[in-house]
Amino acid sequence: MTNFICPHCKGHLRVSNSIIFLTKTTKGKSGLLLISPDLGDYSVKMHPSYNNFEEGEVVNFICPICYENLDASEYGENLAKVIMQEEDGKESTIVFSKITGEKCTYKIGDSDVKSFGEHSGEYDSAFGDLF
Ligand SMILES: [Zn+2]
Repeated sequence: MTNFICPHCKGHLRVSNSIIFLTKTTKGKSGLLLISPDLGDYSVKMHPSYNNFEEGEVVNFICPICYENLDASEYGENLAKVIMQEEDGKESTIVFSKITGEKCTYKIGDSDVKSFGEHSGEYDSAFGDLF
């Protein structure tokens, strides 16, 4: 199984077939989001009472274990990150957009970057020479 790990506390964010995040929108709503561990799959599970995001709304992702913010501000202010650990032990940084409706994910390895999602071109410049 591919593991997804908090970059701060190294806690496991994946349970069964979901990555679990505590989230808080800039409009002050908060709730749990369950996200697919398959890169490029943007299906999200949540309680129906939390399912009222507006297109473009910014969602802050927070580790549910240590409560640290998962911002990837070194890449861009609208990006968040987790560590992906594959079965062979290889680790990559997964960076994704915090903006509702923006489908882009980056897998940053030691020497390469792979991008996923229809909006991945939005942040190409953030990764500079890595592409
Ligand atoms: Zn954590």
